[in-house]
Amino acid sequence: MSTARSLLGLQETDQQLAMCRRAYRQIVEELDSEGGIPDLTAARERAKVKQLELKLEAARNESEAASLGDRFKQLEERLYSGAITNVRELTAIETEHNTARRELARVDEAISPSKTAAEEAEQAYERLSGELEEREAAWALRRKELRKERSRLGAEYKKIGAGRESATEGIPGSDLETYNALLPRMNGVAVVRVDRGVCQGCRVRLPIGEISRMQNAAGLVNCSSCGRILLTE
Ligand SMILES: [Zn+2]
Repeated sequence: MSTARSLLGLQETDQQLAMCRRAYRQIVEELDSEGGIPDLTAARERAKVKQLELKLEAARNESEAASLGDRFKQLEERLYSGAITNVRELTAIETEHNTARRELARVDEAISPSKTAAEEAEQAYERLSGELEEREAAWALRRKELRKERSRLGAEYKKIGAGRESATEGIPGSDLETYNALLPRMNGVAVVRVDRGVCQGCRVRLPIGEISRMQNAAGLVNCSSCGRILLTE
C-alpha cells in the first residue's frame, strides 16, 4: 500500500475525529446556553419589579384620592354650614375648596390608567412565568438528551482516537509531518485523489508530465496548484 493511500486512510480517521469534535463543541455550547432560561428568568424578574411598582402607584393614587375626597367634603361642609360669616375667611375657604376640587379631579383621572397599567404588568409577568415554566420543562428533557449525546460522542471520539495510532503505521515520519502540517491549512483535506488527470482538491488538470512523475515517484507528490498530497488510482 502506498504512503499516499495510507495517508488517505488516516485522513478519514482525522475527519471522523474532527466531526466528533465539532458535534461535541456544539453540544457543549447548547448546554452552556441553558436553553435561554437565564435570560428569561432575568426578564421575569424585571417584569415582577415593574408590576410591583405600578401596583404601588395605583394604590397611592387611590389613597390620595380618598384623602383629597375627605378634605373636599370637609371644606364643602364648612363653606355651606352658615357658621362662617367673615368674608375674608369665606374667600380663603372657597379658594382652598377649588384647589381641592382640581387636585381631586387630577388624581381621579390618574386612577384608571394606573390600574390598567398595573393589570397589564401583572399579565406580562404571568405570561413570562408560564413561558419560563414551559421552557424549563422542555430544557430538562433536552439537557438529558444532550448529556447522553455528549457522553456517546466522547466515547466514540476515544474509540476512533485509539485507532489513529495504528492508522499511522508504516507511514514514514517525514511524510506524516507533511500531512499533519497540511491538514489544518487545507481545511481537513490534505490528501486527494486524481481523477482523469484532475486534482480532486482544486479541480485543476495536472500536466501530463506530472502524472507520469507521480506514478513513478517513490515518495509523496503534491499538487502543483493547491499543494495537496495526490493519490493516483
Ligand atoms: Zn490541487
